[in-house]
Amino acid sequence: MEKIVSLCKRRGFVFQSSEIYGGLNGFWDYGPMGVELKRNLKDYWWRRMVHERDDMVGMDGSIIMNRAVWRASGHEETFSDPMVDCKTCKSRHRADQLPRKDDVPYCPNCGGRDLTEPRAFNLMFKSHAGPLETDENLVYLRPETAQAMFVQFKNILETSRKKLPFGIAQIGKAFRNEINPRNYTFRSREFEQMEVEYFCRAEDGLALTDYWLEERLKFYEDIGIPRAKIRINDIPDGERAFYSKKTYDLEYEFPFGVSELEGIAYRTDYDLSKHMQHSGKPLEYFDEEKKEKFVPHVVEPSAGVDRTTLALLCEAFDEEEVTDEKGQKEVRTVLRFHPRMAPVKCGVFPLLKNKPALVEKARAIAVALRPHMMTFYDEAGAIGRRYRRQDEIGTPFCVTVDFDTIGENGPEKHDTVTLRNRDSMQQERIPVSELRARLEAAVF
Ligand code: ATP
Repeated sequence: MEKIVSLCKRRGFVFQSSEIYGGLNGFWDYGPMGVELKRNLKDYWWRRMVHERDDMVGMDGSIIMNRAVWRASGHEETFSDPMVDCKTCKSRHRADQLPRKDDVPYCPNCGGRDLTEPRAFNLMFKSHAGPLETDENLVYLRPETAQAMFVQFKNILETSRKKLPFGIAQIGKAFRNEINPRNYTFRSREFEQMEVEYFCRAEDGLALTDYWLEERLKFYEDIGIPRAKIRINDIPDGERAFYSKKTYDLEYEFPFGVSELEGIAYRTDYDLSKHMQHSGKPLEYFDEEKKEKFVPHVVEPSAGVDRTTLALLCEAFDEEEVTDEKGQKEVRTVLRFHPRMAPVKCGVFPLLKNKPALVEKARAIAVALRPHMMTFYDEAGAIGRRYRRQDEIGTPFCVTVDFDTIGENGPEKHDTVTLRNRDSMQQERIPVSELRARLEAAVF
């Protein structure tokens, strides 16, 4: 894990938030490469979940909502972890995660055994809307994106004219005042979620939960996380939320242990019923054909953007021993991202930077590719080093403009370039005119 963390910092994927002031526990910034990776993930999720389906619409809800939403959803009362304080060193820990010796829990910070009884600690960040810090103005930063999709159910149903089953998708920030942020970005206090609320008839709920499990596994496969690396945890009776009839947790084998990436929960009609009850507004669905009115049930695939981004980095990270042009062995660090997730799709290099004709041609190729894909132009250093730099950020293709390209070695190879593949390190010659289509097919 240390190697991945160090590469992420060195190559601009992830930085500690407010680093020059000592950072802030549980908060992270994504640098130039990280933001591209995360964006590719979110864009592809949106494409698969919304654009490629006709039973799904999107929305973008506000982070701060009426406090009544969190009362109705049960978050105000119950969204808490049981916590204990260590009376010796004053540190606070989750009661269910305390280490034990001879079956007696102790403080993981100082080893002390003088602990308070477990107490509920609410995970929602508080603020105030308006100038007065009164209880009336109290608001929360949302701890999940889901509630906006429930409270806007009626508006979306009426404006989109969808029929059951249909879903609402949303990507956005969520905040939880986690007691022990840990494992790098895995458990943060500010994070992003990609959630779907898929509304259906009660009788279809269980089958649709299995359908979504399959859909989501396919999605992970299509971004480069194979099924074999995902453990499906079918949460047994008694361990699920009381309203859920079925919940699957999808867990990934992170270097620090197998941990949750996504939860797929059949939440029955719990959420809409609660909001109906608390708001006094009707949130039922009317089936025109059957002339029936009822509260829809919902299946919720809820994934974490940051956790999936971290899984992509862990899955892609590789080190291999290679022999360079001079016959020397070296370790090549390479991020083997699926091309559609890679932050940079193509590196473009002139063979030599002091040959204007090469530079001009390489720049023209980069400019032509840029509107279609993230392209990086680089003329600094030996060509081997430039390839290595792209390997380290996971760029799947590199194009080199040489003397053949500009026609100095005869007409046959004029306007062709070498296309180098990150994984095989093989190079092939292809016409410049075919470059864009070739790359687009691989990174789409
Ligand atoms: P955990 O048990 O790990 O705290 P959870 O079961 O509370 O997670 P959910 O409420 O189901 O998580 O949230 C859905 C998804 O949101 C999770 O699968 C995860 O990907 C993401 N998520 C939740 N909490 C965090 C966090 N603190 N940091 C990063 N991502 C998170």
